Amino acid sequence: MKVLVLGAGQLARMMALAGKPLNISVKAYDVGSLQVVDPLNTRVVYGDLSAGINDADVITAEFEHIDHQVLAQCEASGKLKPSSNAIKTGGDRRLEKQLLSNNNVANAKHAIVTCKQSFDKAMATLELPIIFKSALEGYDGKGQWRIKSADQVETIWQDIADFLKSANPEKPQAIIAEQMVPFDREVSMVGVRKADGSTLAYPLTENHHTNGVLSVSLALASNQTLQNQAAEIFDKVANGLNYVGVLAIEFFQVGEQLLVNEIAPRVHNSGHWTQQGADVCQFENHLRAVCDLPLGNTELIRPSAMVNVLGIDTLPDEILSIPSVSMHWYGKTQRAGRKMGHINVSGSNKEELFERLIALAKLLPSQDFPEVLSYVTAKA
Ligand code: ATP
Ligand code: MG
Repeated sequence: MKVLVLGAGQLARMMALAGKPLNISVKAYDVGSLQVVDPLNTRVVYGDLSAGINDADVITAEFEHIDHQVLAQCEASGKLKPSSNAIKTGGDRRLEKQLLSNNNVANAKHAIVTCKQSFDKAMATLELPIIFKSALEGYDGKGQWRIKSADQVETIWQDIADFLKSANPEKPQAIIAEQMVPFDREVSMVGVRKADGSTLAYPLTENHHTNGVLSVSLALASNQTLQNQAAEIFDKVANGLNYVGVLAIEFFQVGEQLLVNEIAPRVHNSGHWTQQGADVCQFENHLRAVCDLPLGNTELIRPSAMVNVLGIDTLPDEILSIPSVSMHWYGKTQRAGRKMGHINVSGSNKEELFERLIALAKLLPSQDFPEVLSYVTAKA
């Protein structure tokens, strides 16, 4: 099988690696250069998208902010999975909220802001603190503002007004004003759905963010009630989109209740641990689903964790001497804050996992991994 991925970043690269043993060849459409490349070495395979579409059996995506014309061109070939509608929904917080409300899925109280009048209305209906998020093109905490106290209202409105004014008129932008949720923790579920409607989900993963970006994910044997609640929501969302492939859902956990934060119509950073903690990782299961092959086991085979490597391209070699530590570099040019790689760690039980995680955290340069040692120590 030949799969074309829209987007040529680390997610396409890890799909390519996972596809090799199955004889699935993965090429990637680089949305910057508009060329089709080999995601393992970025060598150009085709000079334009059309040739890539003709050559592929299946087309999929590694991110949701894809030009709608490109999505339409791919969909017209009959090869795009998931559908352009599913990809667009993940890329527009207005559509995402609509999907959640259509399927009776709990999420944070919110309002849509497009002008001063709707801003004032949002301020009147929501309680402080409030988070404002751009409807389009938000990721890794970008395009967000927070109001904690009443004296910030005017300044933040000015920022939002400037942001809305500078938006491309061809892509009508809006802001979602959302009540800040006093969550106990953030968790996510990565699951997979086939065209026949069958689904499987990986265990819930606990996620720790630093400055709005994921830094650590923990996959431990989970509370069955919570797992069932998440799986039920996963099915509602995936069925609501008639989804094909891997889909991730981020949640806020408040007591025993899960509120959806957002959905990602793709493989997800919080599912990278599946490369070492599951029989079949999220990248392989995504390929299996879009190629209509049987799905692989998604159970946790051993407690596992993932630590993101942001902004640096070297680490001390000694980390590899810790048992069950696997390094995954993305081969990208270094830039401050950029996702450069991740480290997976596993243990045969929770105690062993944390022993190894703490040993790892102590070897990582603390300025590049703020909070990792304190977070894993507190969790142990
Ligand atoms: P990413 O692409 O990394 O998932 P994003 O830019 O799409 O991030 P969100 O996931 O919506 O944005 O928000 C980033 C983080 O901000 C969340 O993981 C959470 O820590 C915090 N956050 C967002 N919305 C809320 C909220 N309503 N209440 C409390 N915290 C929030
Ligand atoms: Mg998020």
